[in-house]
Amino acid sequence: MQYVSTRGQSPAQSFSQILLGGLAPDGGLYLPVEYPKISGAELDVWRKLSYADLAFEVLKKFATDIPEADLRELTRKTYTADVYRNVRQGEDAAQITPLCTLEDKDGRKLVLQALSNGPTLAFKDMAMQLLGNLFEYALAKQNAELNIFGATSGDTGSAAEYAMRGKKGIRVFMLSPHKKMSAFQTAQMFSLQDPNIFNIAVEGVFDDCQDMVKAVSNDLEFKARQKIGTVNSINWARVVAQVVYYVRGYLSATASNDQKVSFTVPSGNFGNICAGHIARMMGIPIDTLVAATNENDVLDEFFRTGVYRVRKASETYHTTSPSMDISKASNFERFVYDLLGRDAERVRALFKRVDSHGGFDLSGKPGSDGDEFAKVGAYGFVSGKSVHADRVATIRDVHAQYGVTVDTHTADGIKVARDYAKPGIPMIVLETALPAKFNETIREALGRDAERPAGFENIESLPQRYEVMGTDVEKMKAFIARHTGL
Ligand SMILES: *Cc1c(COP(=O)(O)O)cnc(C)c1O
Repeated sequence: MQYVSTRGQSPAQSFSQILLGGLAPDGGLYLPVEYPKISGAELDVWRKLSYADLAFEVLKKFATDIPEADLRELTRKTYTADVYRNVRQGEDAAQITPLCTLEDKDGRKLVLQALSNGPTLAFKDMAMQLLGNLFEYALAKQNAELNIFGATSGDTGSAAEYAMRGKKGIRVFMLSPHKKMSAFQTAQMFSLQDPNIFNIAVEGVFDDCQDMVKAVSNDLEFKARQKIGTVNSINWARVVAQVVYYVRGYLSATASNDQKVSFTVPSGNFGNICAGHIARMMGIPIDTLVAATNENDVLDEFFRTGVYRVRKASETYHTTSPSMDISKASNFERFVYDLLGRDAERVRALFKRVDSHGGFDLSGKPGSDGDEFAKVGAYGFVSGKSVHADRVATIRDVHAQYGVTVDTHTADGIKVARDYAKPGIPMIVLETALPAKFNETIREALGRDAERPAGFENIESLPQRYEVMGTDVEKMKAFIARHTGL
């Protein structure tokens, strides 16, 4: 299987060649030359597989240059009940992404698929844990090393650290804004004692951290010498690892392949739901893909109007579902490439405007950039938006009706899912985090703390290991060089 760039000006590459990277050299995102298909006969066999072996079956269609025996070992090492242990009471950790069917007194059903049972209690662990093992495997083969350098305001950074801790050939340098993360998130990251993990608390805000990452990455000589890489949400292996749980969700919610399901996905950078789009393109019988946004409604605006408009910093809101606070959706280009019939030249023209903080209009109205918005329905996409008041009301309502506490992002999903439920088609809402991570809003909604999984009770009192630094780029480079020895 070869991979091409959505902007059409980079050479085709294999899975292993794009594994450790991010953007293609032409600024586009990688996609397979064509989507592999999943047959009904395969689905019948897959119904009986463990999550790890299902992951192997899906991944081997994409990672064709990794020997099958190695790939199977990697998926079996990753998807274990021990890694994904933080299940709700009564759920079976061995299922990895168990479904929780909630039924109210009027018989209305709501299905949650738990994706947040991994070490950092958010769905990013589903892909990141595999990435850690894939990276270690690939680096060992090339006798190479990699220094991951990034900035985080919470979820992504901790998922990356828990995936890469203790991995040979890998170090992680993660910047976060000093004293700006929640006590829980800070403790989760800073309590890691692994010598290959470096937490750097920057005296500034998240944007200062990001600016430092950009400044260091723009020094190409330094970047090459220090073997600097990233693990952001556009990484292809992360997207493909997420395809697996859509297949599992489908198989778990149906008894035969003539049934359909729909998914609602709390969305920010479009990484999660992009995997749903790919699963649908591969032939999984998915009826509708519902993108649920918070106040940062870039995606909802597109799926309602055909207009894609990047937000300015002043129009990007800090919300109580913070992992969806985005000004543009970095994986969206992958879907638009398919929507435009894989016309890389047009994608390049439209997304160059996105890169310079503009946008485009596919509504088909006079003066617009195209009329492909009319085709969005054929890809199953619809959307909706949920704001703070909806979130709080949904957390309360779900707790009252079903006795289950959901996190703020999942609450956004449930709010929107309820508008799109159809009789006879199970609506699966992806649960993207556990409520303990966003306790402030749980307190607001329910007047008490969220329950914490075993082992997290006293996380704030564990010893912390981190470095406080100013926004001096040269000092940052010196810190990295001192610890890599390169
Ligand atoms: C990252 C994240 C999201 C958004 O996922 P995207 O892939 O960026 O659309 C939603 N919920 C939680 C809890 C997350 O961590």
